[in-house]
Amino acid sequence: MIARREWSYFVVMALAAVTYGCQGEQGETEIDDAADSTTSEAESSADTESGESAEVTGEAVLSAAGDGPSEAPGALRVGRGDLEPNDASATAQQAPLGVTNNLSITKGDEDWYRVVVPARTVARVGIQMNNAAGDLDLVAYDAQGHLLGSRNGAEYPYTWRGQETNTEFYGFYSEEGGAVYYVRVLGHAGATNTYSLYVDHYTYVDGQTCTGAGFSLADCEGRGSGGSGLIPFPFPDPSDSVLGNAYNFASYSNYRFARRELVMLVRHALAETRKAFPGTKPLSLIDICQMDGVTPGYDIGDPRHPQSTHDQGGNIDIAYFQTDGSNDAEIVCNDGASHADGYCSSTAAKTHIVDLPRQAFFMAKLFASPRTRVIGTDTVLAPLIRATAQSLASLPAGDRRRISQSELNSFSSRLAYGSGWPYHHHHIHLSLQWLPQGSSARGGDPMPLSAPAPFLGPGAKDAEGDPKPQMSNSMQAPGEAVDSFDMTWPPRP
Ligand SMILES: [Zn+2]
Repeated sequence: MIARREWSYFVVMALAAVTYGCQGEQGETEIDDAADSTTSEAESSADTESGESAEVTGEAVLSAAGDGPSEAPGALRVGRGDLEPNDASATAQQAPLGVTNNLSITKGDEDWYRVVVPARTVARVGIQMNNAAGDLDLVAYDAQGHLLGSRNGAEYPYTWRGQETNTEFYGFYSEEGGAVYYVRVLGHAGATNTYSLYVDHYTYVDGQTCTGAGFSLADCEGRGSGGSGLIPFPFPDPSDSVLGNAYNFASYSNYRFARRELVMLVRHALAETRKAFPGTKPLSLIDICQMDGVTPGYDIGDPRHPQSTHDQGGNIDIAYFQTDGSNDAEIVCNDGASHADGYCSSTAAKTHIVDLPRQAFFMAKLFASPRTRVIGTDTVLAPLIRATAQSLASLPAGDRRRISQSELNSFSSRLAYGSGWPYHHHHIHLSLQWLPQGSSARGGDPMPLSAPAPFLGPGAKDAEGDPKPQMSNSMQAPGEAVDSFDMTWPPRP
């Protein structure tokens, strides 16, 4: 199993540049094609049908599942679940709020659910199953039936199995209310299983600050029995007046869970950037956090970041704004170096592809929040970004790109780079204030893994009595040693 996962992983990585290099052309299929060799040859015709419709990634309109002119006889199959028949979007059942247990995918079966999102709400929709008993997938579509994405990102690479767990969740947002989405449950390669369907609503509104928008601090931090836990960063909504189609995901759906304050901050900074810089293309959001508040990768026993660095839903990796036509997750040095150490070479000062004005402006808006602890970037890029921030602060009043003096000051006090910050030639790392030890990232449960120790400021000593590194300027969660880095490299999509 591990060998296959690793193999698939390298296929995905090899093609990631192609895929992510074509943003806007939703649904590249290279990953599917490359991984098709692993598809079981023993699929039944019904399963093949499911697989084929799944692989029409860009144009996976609902007719592919049987509600169009090409509808196959018997497309509406009757299964055992109480919500059947719901095997095509036209007859998709309304997804009930709360938990619905004992649903099932039988041989050749698939279930469609319709999700209507109320105003100012993020709907968290997902399935839970015992994956070992049958590998079920959850795939998300918009109201027109266009594929929004799967567990694996913007595509639905049917044969890519490197990331399967017992849960699969997405976030859907509606600013005005009434936005319609569809989710589709299907068994991989003929798999059958029972599952539970979850639908939860989280109040959400865009704004500059979370508490300023009326949420309690616990709600903003997504913790404690008084808080509502981490929320899934929702798919962008093109009809959204604040952001439109401002971002996309270059990460697995398992790793898109965030504090409400993080979702608000990133969306606000993006909205401001788009106002100041018309024509800004969508920005790729990378790893955030698992639903349980743990750093991405622990759910499959394969951590993608140093331990605890993405705990608590307050950390996110974000691609750079770039000059090459797409703001995707890629190394931006363009210096011809191998980057084995995880840094741009000095040559990159002249060859990098960072769109510096947009990048500095966006970071200034992230720094504008007092909740922002630090933003990590590359050693060679950091001074260039800082110098650009200086230029933006010097623009005449009234220029939308102008940043404030206090925002500029943060490029000296809260910009992190250098040793301890490798791999940020590929993305920036935004880190909000850590929560105190023992805080919960979800409704009252204790943090299950790698709970950070209390904040260690200047002067803290380690077990030998030597000074601890000053954590306020490091990537690690409090208590982590600098040499504990074991980041998966290259980063997975
Ligand atoms: Zn990170």
